[in-house]
Amino acid sequence: MTITAPERTRVRTDDRAHVFHSWSAQAQIDPMPIERAEGSYFWDDEGRRYLDFSSQLVNVNIGYQHPRLVAAITEQAAKLCTVAPGFANDARSEAARLIAEVAPGDLDKVFFTNGGAEANENALRMARVHTGRHKVLAAYRSYHGATAGAIAVTGDPRRWASEPGVSGVVRYWGPYAYRSAFHAADEHEEGARALAHLRDTLVVEGPHTVAAIILETVVGTNGVLVPPPGYLAGVRALCDEFGIVMIVDEVMSGFGRCGEWFAVDHWDVVPDLITFAKGVNSGYVPLGGVVISRAIAATFDDRPYPGGLTYSGHPLACASAVASIGVFRDEGILEHARALGRDVIGPELRALARRHPSVGEVRGLGVMWALELVRDRKTREPLVPFNATGAAAAPMAEFAAACKQGGLWPFTHFNRTHVVPPCTTTPEEVREGVAVLDAALDVVDRYYTG
Ligand code: PLP
Repeated sequence: MTITAPERTRVRTDDRAHVFHSWSAQAQIDPMPIERAEGSYFWDDEGRRYLDFSSQLVNVNIGYQHPRLVAAITEQAAKLCTVAPGFANDARSEAARLIAEVAPGDLDKVFFTNGGAEANENALRMARVHTGRHKVLAAYRSYHGATAGAIAVTGDPRRWASEPGVSGVVRYWGPYAYRSAFHAADEHEEGARALAHLRDTLVVEGPHTVAAIILETVVGTNGVLVPPPGYLAGVRALCDEFGIVMIVDEVMSGFGRCGEWFAVDHWDVVPDLITFAKGVNSGYVPLGGVVISRAIAATFDDRPYPGGLTYSGHPLACASAVASIGVFRDEGILEHARALGRDVIGPELRALARRHPSVGEVRGLGVMWALELVRDRKTREPLVPFNATGAAAAPMAEFAAACKQGGLWPFTHFNRTHVVPPCTTTPEEVREGVAVLDAALDVVDRYYTG
């Protein structure tokens, strides 16, 4: 289908006149129209192609327009477009069974939502009702979504405008060896001290008042922070000791992003609740959910669960999840993601760090990586200050512009660029993108003062 020039203009004018965009000062944005996409690439309205190193919002895990998903959605649409949550439905039943099959331990029931925030919202509700307690421990440097409860447990600046928010949220520092809050010398010490700090926080809060500890298994937008060995097991042990529900947010890290079904599988830790969204069906239709342990599910055997959504388990979304899990299995997506990170992305990014002094640290796993950009490797002064905007953020804006100029769509946040392409990206495509990053980092190196 070809789009005419007047239709193209209309996309922009209608957008500017009538679309109210997320997280933006409406008069200061000029959203780029995307006309089509395939695999790891998308095209703008002038036919310019971009290699997507962002997977949109780190959700297009199996790439754009996978024919099996498109067919599954089309077939489901022809069969049954919508049905209320109170009925049983084949697409929903199968999606829940498949998700239970790939979830760790005894997590074998799924409550479906429309996305990640609602998944966390419901996980918090389940934990509170299950324990009869109210407080939740949540990490700084985290993002859990933009609804009332999810933004309240978020630990980044996006929560500020929603404060004071809901009551009972207590924040703690998670491990981050490169910028340690604990003056740790290495990641082992960082993990141990972060756990000691979490225990201290629990003790002074009164562990019997705490319903849940919530954390991103691998912190996503706030830095691709991979937990040190033993950290997640330590959180599990604290939760067991005090009867606290362990909620891991795998909205970004799940479904192949870290090379496993769920990132917790790397560390063999079984949480009580896992929240998911994004990669479950690559966002082809909005979908998220909570995978629930038997003990927590049993709380609601003879007592109604006090929550619900009109579109919980929507058949179009569930049909696309069924197809997506089939694609993961048949096309070896997890194996590909693991190998891509280990053999291509990791080594290529480390080579960039050797060429560019402004790369302070390279970290990640699977297809979830970050370059931390600095002005000085010794002091680790970030390229731009925390939460910088406008002129203060100019070096990062110049970096992003250079990437786009080179045909690469980057994911940037504060002083970092993340490398989070679809999990299906080929080694050649990764190298094509890294070559663009290489040139864009020359721009950043000009700010280096070390
Ligand atoms: N949790 C994490 C870790 C996320 O990265 C996000 C979104 O980026 C969310 C929750 C919120 O998901 P949604 O935007 O689908 O509500």
